Amino acid sequence: MNAFEQFRKSFLCTIAAALCLAGLGNSTPLMAQSQDQDEEVQMGQEVFNELKAKGEIIESSPLYDQLKPIADAITRAAQPRYNHPFKFYLVHEQQPNAFATPGGNVYVVDSLLYFAKNTEELAGTLCHEVSHTIHHDTVTLMEKDQRLERREVGAAILLGPTRAHLLAILLLGKLHSLSYSRDVESRADITGSDVCAATGYNPWGLVWLFQDFDNAKMGQVPQLLSDHPGNQNRVDALKQHFSKNPAVFGKFNPDPKAASPLVVPKDAPEVFLH
Ligand SMILES: [Zn+2]
Repeated sequence: MNAFEQFRKSFLCTIAAALCLAGLGNSTPLMAQSQDQDEEVQMGQEVFNELKAKGEIIESSPLYDQLKPIADAITRAAQPRYNHPFKFYLVHEQQPNAFATPGGNVYVVDSLLYFAKNTEELAGTLCHEVSHTIHHDTVTLMEKDQRLERREVGAAILLGPTRAHLLAILLLGKLHSLSYSRDVESRADITGSDVCAATGYNPWGLVWLFQDFDNAKMGQVPQLLSDHPGNQNRVDALKQHFSKNPAVFGKFNPDPKAASPLVVPKDAPEVFLH
């Protein structure tokens, strides 16, 4: 057996194990619920291990001084809605980005701190990401992956890693291009704005971020929102949500001139987790 066949065989085993576990889960809903929760932690841990192995996770940096107060406030507001602890990590990548993985980890790319124009835009982005976790969007998206639906792999031998491991593999391949539908994105915006309002950070930050992206030159638009569909619809949905809930959102100023500047040290040193 050559290396390719070896890989193919082990991949098929992985998928077979996944299908088997998925089947078991469906027949026992109560068990499935706790199993799914554990699965989310496992998926998150595998992604963490991979990012750590690639030397991307920043262990310490003055940039955490900017991130921490926002992350702490979001954690206080969002934690009651998710049953694993939220943890925020800075990672080093070229494209400004933020992504949350199942299990509660939220990754903030260092360059996003330089791209965001103000504290509210950064907070809005992180509230949005945390909401994907609250809604279990990533797991749902991975489960819909075509490779899980392929019939022929079901016949493969029942050996190999767990369903969580397979989902983590799929997630790692798509970490930077998770293509949620417009509805899923909009739902994360709305929940995100509720979370942000609860923190006290102005939830208009997410609207301002969309507007900045629209005004940015092509090629400068970070992947973070460029592949998130229907920005104008999402802005409209947010505005509608704000006006329907004046008791929550009425106190926040829609004018970006009211924003708090995000002061980030230039070329901040970074120590990586090994
Ligand atoms: Zn999103």
